Amino acid sequence: MDAAPQTVQSVQPLRVRRRRTPLPVDVPQLTEARRSYAQCRVLGHAWQHVGRADGAQSFGAYGFVSQCSCGTERTKWIVGSGRTAKARYKYPSDYAARGEDALSAQQWRRVLIVSLGYE
Ligand SMILES: [Zn+2]
Repeated sequence: MDAAPQTVQSVQPLRVRRRRTPLPVDVPQLTEARRSYAQCRVLGHAWQHVGRADGAQSFGAYGFVSQCSCGTERTKWIVGSGRTAKARYKYPSDYAARGEDALSAQQWRRVLIVSLGYE
């Protein structure tokens, strides 16, 4: 996983929302691999375009493959007219935990803040 994002000058939030409930104090215990997914979970994947998909024209569409450093791969399908078909994703095996290992969006945001050393 990449290092912490660089600090860049940016606009400030319009307003800071008051929390109705306090943030959870504890950060879920995650493996290093799962903790490294926090940035993508919160900020979205940083796609690197890597090329065309094999067999792209088999159903009249062209596939374009992109990869993220977290291990996720996306193939976008575009037909000749410019219309798109549903993109397909391949995730690392432990990217989507279920049951008690699943984290809420807020928990992922908390993991990101703590793992970057802000708190
Ligand atoms: Zn990613």
